[in-house]
Amino acid sequence: MAGPAPAAMRKKGDRELAIDWEDGHRSVYDVVELRRKCPCAKCVDEWSGKRLLDPVKIKATVRPVEIEPVGMYAIQIHWSDGHASGIYSFDFLRASCPCRSCGGPGALSIEPEELRRLLAGSETVVLLDVRTAAEHAAGRIPGARHADEKAARELEPTLPRESAVVFYCCPCDRPKQAAQWFRDRGITRTWYLAGGIDRWPGPLDKILP
Ligand SMILES: [Zn+2]
Ligand SMILES: [Zn+2]
Repeated sequence: MAGPAPAAMRKKGDRELAIDWEDGHRSVYDVVELRRKCPCAKCVDEWSGKRLLDPVKIKATVRPVEIEPVGMYAIQIHWSDGHASGIYSFDFLRASCPCRSCGGPGALSIEPEELRRLLAGSETVVLLDVRTAAEHAAGRIPGARHADEKAARELEPTLPRESAVVFYCCPCDRPKQAAQWFRDRGITRTWYLAGGIDRWPGPLDKILP
C-alpha cells in the first residue's frame, strides 16, 4: 500500500525544505541532511545498504538547485555540488521525517523542560557549557562540563554518532552554531538549550572555592 504523497513542497528559509503531506503532517527537512542521506547507488551500497558517502565530505553550503517529480512516487533532486542521481521516494522522505513525533531529532533547539526530561532519563547526555570557565564554576546545570570551542571540536570525533549532545550558554548564538557544527558532522541528536541557562528551571551546581 502506498503511503501519503506530498500535497505541497516549498523552500523554507535558507536551508530547509518543507513538505505538507496529504494526511496533514508537515515535515521540515534540513537540505544538507537530505543530501547526506541521498539514497542513490553511488551513495548507498545496493546490496548491503551500507552508506558509501562520508557525511562529513558534504559541505554545509550544499543546496538543491532543481527538484523534479519522478512518476507519482518520488522526487529527483539536483544539488549544487553537481550530484543529481538521488531519487527520493515519498515513502523514504516520510520515513526520514526529522520531527520528534516521527522519532527524529526535531528542531536544533531544545526547550528547558525537554532537556530536564532528557537528563532524567537513562541515556547518558553530553551536556556542554560553552560559557567561560569562571561562569561554569559559579553555577552550572548539574552534569554539565565546561567546553570552549577548541575543546568541543576535539571532543566531537571521539563521540559515537548516536550520542545525545546539548550545548548551552547565555542567551546568545554560540551554542546554536556549535550544535549545527556537530549535526553537520553526523551527530544529528545535538541540540542547544533555547534561551540559554537563564531559562533553566532547576537548581544549579556550584564548584565551591
Ligand atoms: Zn547519491
Ligand atoms: Zn514527522
